[in-house]
Amino acid sequence: MTTAISIRKSPIVIAHRGASGYLPEHTLVAKAYAHAAGADYLEQDVVLTRDDIPVVFHDLVLEEVTNVAERFADRRRADGHWYVIDLDFAELQTLQVHERVIPSTGDAVYLKRFHERLDLRIRSLAEELSFIRGLNAATGRHAGIYTEVKSPAWHRAEGKDSSPIILKTLAEFGYVGPDDDVWLQCFDAKELLRIKHELGCRLKLVQLIGENDWLESDNDYDAMRSPAGLADIARYASGIGPWIPHIVTWAQSGAQPEYSTLVRDAHGVGLEVHPYTFRIDDLPEGAPDVESAHRSLFDVAGIDGLFTDFSDVTLRLLGR
Ligand code: CA
Repeated sequence: MTTAISIRKSPIVIAHRGASGYLPEHTLVAKAYAHAAGADYLEQDVVLTRDDIPVVFHDLVLEEVTNVAERFADRRRADGHWYVIDLDFAELQTLQVHERVIPSTGDAVYLKRFHERLDLRIRSLAEELSFIRGLNAATGRHAGIYTEVKSPAWHRAEGKDSSPIILKTLAEFGYVGPDDDVWLQCFDAKELLRIKHELGCRLKLVQLIGENDWLESDNDYDAMRSPAGLADIARYASGIGPWIPHIVTWAQSGAQPEYSTLVRDAHGVGLEVHPYTFRIDDLPEGAPDVESAHRSLFDVAGIDGLFTDFSDVTLRLLGR
């Protein structure tokens, strides 16, 4: 297995929502930190505002990472949530972005992260791409982008079509072809097929793979991970983004890692494998420590890239 790895190109490090281990996710400071750390790709999750501006934001709802509850108390829906899609871009600009909390209690999801409250804002996709273009120019080090179309079926049910808007913005920044330094990711296979065949997108596509009970889409993710499923994906995508436990698991703390055949099967049909998400403060269940979890993923399983909240740690362990 070691021989096979040594002839492959070195794996890519994808800054998951920026340097989100250190700074509130998807803020420009988090992107700057990840760029400075040397991440190969900076991730954008993209959702639409009420006035159809694509913004870099992970959730469909606002209350876990912003002060929306105090700012727009009356804009809560009957289901108890404040949705990005219910506010205009200008309204979203009045919100402070902060580290992720549990809204009902205000408790931090990750205790040892950045918990200051500062004037950090939600940014449009165009602002973020401009920021990255500026950093690439100023540093001479080129970081690519790794953009996710979030919940397209949900957007459509709300009367919004995000993919064409996202593709248009990417094109405005020169991201148009398979050799451009961009990966476009989505959990929804139907949307990826539409992006490729109806919208004529030529970017490298990544099929994200979750668990069926997460309800990310109506896709059957168990079937996707089978050799036949992977062969189907290879007809439209260049890679898959599975969950780390789809590749390696530890039955209990200290137990030997157990590997699936997913990476080998995916490589067999020409797909790259970029699993999510590595967190040094929230290791995969049962993983004994940061170093051995990394070794299992990169050296043994042979992944081609990793979504990480801690790009600097991943780069250091890769010897970069
Ligand atoms: Ca994402």
